[in-house]
Amino acid sequence: MSGPGPLSLNTVTVKERWGLADCIEGCARHGIPGLAPWRDVLQAMGTAAAARQIRDAGLRVTGLCRGGMFPATDAAGRAAAIEDNRRAIAEAQEIGAPCLVMVCGGLPPGSKDLPAARRMVEDGLAAILPEARAAGVTLAVEPLHPMTCADRSVVSTLGQALDLCEALGDGVGVALDVYHVWWDPALASQMRRAKGRIAAFHTCDWLVPTTDTVFDRGLPGDGVIDIPAIRAMAEEAGWAGGAEVEILSRRWWSRDPDDVLPLLKARHLAAC
Ligand code: ZN
Repeated sequence: MSGPGPLSLNTVTVKERWGLADCIEGCARHGIPGLAPWRDVLQAMGTAAAARQIRDAGLRVTGLCRGGMFPATDAAGRAAAIEDNRRAIAEAQEIGAPCLVMVCGGLPPGSKDLPAARRMVEDGLAAILPEARAAGVTLAVEPLHPMTCADRSVVSTLGQALDLCEALGDGVGVALDVYHVWWDPALASQMRRAKGRIAAFHTCDWLVPTTDTVFDRGLPGDGVIDIPAIRAMAEEAGWAGGAEVEILSRRWWSRDPDDVLPLLKARHLAAC
């Protein structure tokens, strides 16, 4: 098997430690060629300044995190979410991100109507798709582990994400995060459907025991996910964009990023 391709740093990995300017300088300093900002650090720095500094540093943007969060209690809430997603598409275009990662949203407060929430997600994606296509920014639907179905995403499996791709057509793809898809018994068969649809590839690991289902991700190699096997399936489906390391972890957020980044580079080569 070939190597894992270029590494990209997802800024959430050093959340609480580094702003976006620090991340840009840190990637350059540590020889990490890619960067995937979250909108909070992007907006804190200012999109135009960030775009300039990323370009000057010669970094490749692999995605912007995140759009989505479409379901809402009323029409005004859904319209506000759509407007915010339109702003996110413009930000992604300005920094040269090929995709906007979509965390589609959970149940609206007080609702138990899962099919309705899923319809709101599809309607929201359809509403912003013209802007995304015009901007050349792929809407990368990230299926999230079903434990987050109520509050983060009613899109839980790669199969569901691909159904959305097929229903909506060009401009919609999938963000494949090993943390969210590794458990899925249908993963191999769905990956065969994903040909040409993978827009982002996120790495980290599932620790055993895990102490927090959102904020206790491990470094690649520290958990139970067969990352090279998933990468091989992704490459079979046409993915050639390397890997974005995305570690949401209180444990790693407590460490100095200048110590963490060399570890990420080593694990990227050894365990991805
Ligand atoms: Zn992810």
